[in-house]
Order: sequence, then structure tokens, then C-alpha cells
Amino acid sequence: MLQLSIPLNFLGVMYRELRQALTDIERMFGLLHVNQEVADAPSASALPPGAATLRFDAVRFAYDPKRPILRGISFEVPAGHTVAVVGHSGAGKSTLARLLYRFYDVSDGAIRINGMDIRGLTQSSLRAAIGIVPQDTVLFNDTLYYNIHYGRPDASREEVEAAAAAAQLGDFVARLPDGYDTRVGERGLKLSGGEKQRVAIARALLKNPAILIFDEATSALDSKTEKAIQAQLEQAAAGRTALVIAHRLSTVMKADEIIVLDQGEIVERGSHAALLAAGGHYARMWALQQQEAHDDR
Ligand code: ATP
Repeated sequence: MLQLSIPLNFLGVMYRELRQALTDIERMFGLLHVNQEVADAPSASALPPGAATLRFDAVRFAYDPKRPILRGISFEVPAGHTVAVVGHSGAGKSTLARLLYRFYDVSDGAIRINGMDIRGLTQSSLRAAIGIVPQDTVLFNDTLYYNIHYGRPDASREEVEAAAAAAQLGDFVARLPDGYDTRVGERGLKLSGGEKQRVAIARALLKNPAILIFDEATSALDSKTEKAIQAQLEQAAAGRTALVIAHRLSTVMKADEIIVLDQGEIVERGSHAALLAAGGHYARMWALQQQEAHDDR
């Protein structure tokens, strides 16, 4: 009986973990009840490691053929640069990230990394090159260590601690009585939004990805947490190719280029200063957010 109960118990745990991992992915991309399988091409090759230049080339996409979501999007993120995408809710910002991670294939056009169409790459090499900091991080009911280590299961203890330090979790962990062995998640220590985001950054940094996708949380944050997250983002993006999906324009002020999406089209692009000076969509969004921040004070 004992012999049987151990594997069953183990399977139960595995099942719960797996389901939770899927929940994480689903939440990450808001993908519920959709087919996430895009198969490797028979001739797929592995993406060589190293610096990555990312290009969206006339990308069109529709979840439902009757309703186009992206209508010919072209932009480049040169290796080591940060490009931010802003725009109203539903403009198609997160869809760009889903396509880059190949949860779906483009309907037309191409996404290229160092000139290679991502449809010709193995998914494992593509996904290994991309670190994601999702909007809402789901923590496993396990230790803090486990929750970071999960970013790259073959990482050593030293590497996990180095990633945590880079995500500015070091002092926080040092103050916990059980340190990295502290249990977190629903049945453990509840972390604040900012702390959860730091766990997500540590997970992503552990992969040491050439490309970082940062999907900013839509939830309201106090201005101190917001500033801290901005600083963390800048640090995490340094030396990587970063695509930032932003809801708060204050997060993207320092991006090399800001792209304004509206109804699946790029309506404006440029630096923060240039876009403000242009007095168009971005300038209006900026004025509105400044006003909201003022009203909240
Ligand atoms: P937000 O700022 O609210 O996160 P967004 O700009 O990131 O919005 P997307 O998530 O890219 O917007 O969604 C773009 C459009 O695609 C929306 O109208 C959305 O309803 C639709 N959409 C998103 N996911 C799916 C899906 N799995 N199936 C069908 N339509 C979808």
C-alpha cells in the first residue's frame, strides 16, 4: 500500500505543479482555452546564442480571420536596445509578445531574430533566448528558492542567488527568518506586487536571456513601488534586447524608441521628447496620465 501511495502522491503533486505552471503561462498571456501548440518545422534550426536583433516585418495577425488585430507592424529592436510599445487597451500590445514567443504564428509578414524567421527556429532555442516578466506573476506554493530556480532548472544555488541579488531581492531575503527556504504563495508568505515582480525578474534573469519581454502590470501601484520597478526594469534590460509593453508612460521615458499602437497599427514612433513635441496621440496620453496622477494625489 505504501509502495503504491508514494507514486500516486508524487503524481498528484506533479499534476498540481503542472497545472499551476500552465496557469502561470495562461495568465502571462491571457490565453485561456486556446491552442498553444505551434509545431517546429521539420528543418528547424537552433537559434545560436548571443546578442539578438529583433525585427517585426510587416506583421499581420488575427485570432479570428474576421477581425484583424495587427495590420502591418514593422519595427526593429537593435541588439542591446529597449523599445517600448504603448497604446490603449486592446490595441494589440500583448499580441506582439505572444507572437514573438510563438504561441501563435503571424498571418502575414515575419518576425526575425538576427535575420532568421522565427518560424524556422526550434521553439526550445527560441524560448530559451527570451525571458518574460509577466503582468501578474503566479507563485508556486513552495519555497522562494524553488520559485526562482524554476526559471532555469539546471541552475546552481550560486546562480539562483546571483539572479535574486540582480533583481534586488537580496536584502528582502536576508530579512526573512528562513531566507530562501521561506514558503511563499497562497499557503505561505504573501508577497507584495513589487516583491512578486522582483521574483519574476530574478526568474527571467536566471535564464540570462538575450531578449527580455517586460509586460507591465496594469494594476495601480504606489509611486514608490512604481519607481522601484522602473529602476529594476532598467537594470534587467541593460545589455539585452528589450521589448517593454507599458501601461504607464512614466515607465518608458528612457526607452530608445517608443511605438504607439492604435487599432493594430503604428500611429507614432520616436523618443519620449520627440513624441511630446509632436503633440499627437502620445502627447495626449501623457497629458491624461499626468492629470490622473495629479488627481490621485
Ligand atoms: P491591454 O493593454 O488591455 O493588455 P493589449 O493592447 O495588450 O491590451 P491584446 O491583448 O494584444 O491587447 O489584444 C488585442 C485584441 O485581441 C483585443 O481586442 C483582444 O480582445 C483580442 N484578443 C486577445 N487574445 C485573444 C484570443 N486568444 N482570442 C481572440 N481574441 C483575442
